[in-house]
Amino acid sequence: MARFDNRVAIVTGAGSGIGRATALRLAREGARVVLADVSDAGLLDTENRLPEGAECLRRVVDVSDEPQVKALVDEILAHFGQVDVLCNIAGIASTQGSHPPVTENERAEWEQVLSVNLIGSMLLIKHTAPHMQARKVGSIVNTASVAGLRSGAGGNAYSASKAGVVNLTMTAACDLGDDNVRVNAVCPGLVETGMTQAVFDYARAHEKAHKLGSRCELRRYGDPEEIAAAILFFASDDASYITGQALPVDGGNTASL
Ligand code: NAD
Repeated sequence: MARFDNRVAIVTGAGSGIGRATALRLAREGARVVLADVSDAGLLDTENRLPEGAECLRRVVDVSDEPQVKALVDEILAHFGQVDVLCNIAGIASTQGSHPPVTENERAEWEQVLSVNLIGSMLLIKHTAPHMQARKVGSIVNTASVAGLRSGAGGNAYSASKAGVVNLTMTAACDLGDDNVRVNAVCPGLVETGMTQAVFDYARAHEKAHKLGSRCELRRYGDPEEIAAAILFFASDDASYITGQALPVDGGNTASL
């Protein structure tokens, strides 16, 4: 029996990076997966990598748009009849590239970043959790960041959105714990994905590749699969007595602060 046999798992951000790695591993471990993302091309690519025979529902959804989120959850329930796991992984980086100080931040950037990273996670929880509560079972895993635990990583809007995700994780865990619905978060360090590709490309082009991940204690950057492993731990019954926690998965980056 695999860890996610007979379970339905929603993965947002499933079209790339950490979301793709998570969806593929969930499918390998028996889950029926809902692949959700704004990128149809990314979703198709992920679907094409699923193991033979894996059952999935692939949907283009903007997680910051409440009617779209509600329609997605309604469709999942009509199609699969249940939802057991929610992995909130969709996210965007700060759009003001050079990470200017707060005095130079633009309100529009904050609204955009918070609406996807923080409010998007809240909307998925809002519309999914009642079905988990009714069945008295469910696990929700949010994706924060080391940027949500300290300053100086990812820009002000991004860091604030991820700090918000850490707090949303705690408050939602308190709201849903009576009904045996667990809520946890992972806080990845630097991982090579679509979001960070420009950083990696720049470093490699300027002979700075050795610096990538060098600030963490393991002295290397992470793979999406290493974040997916932690997400699946929280999502599974292996974490049955853990809720409201935010786990750095960062090669020790936050250990030395
Ligand atoms: P990625 O860019 O490879 O994947 C993010 C995915 O989210 C993309 O497929 C994108 O299309 C999707 N997305 C963006 N906006 C969306 C929206 N409004 N609705 C639905 N989907 C949307 O990046 P990634 O690194 O895999 O990011 C996954 C999560 O991990 C994000 O929440 C990110 O903040 C977090 N994270 C990443 C790193 C890192 O170093 N890569 C570090 C810490 C945290």
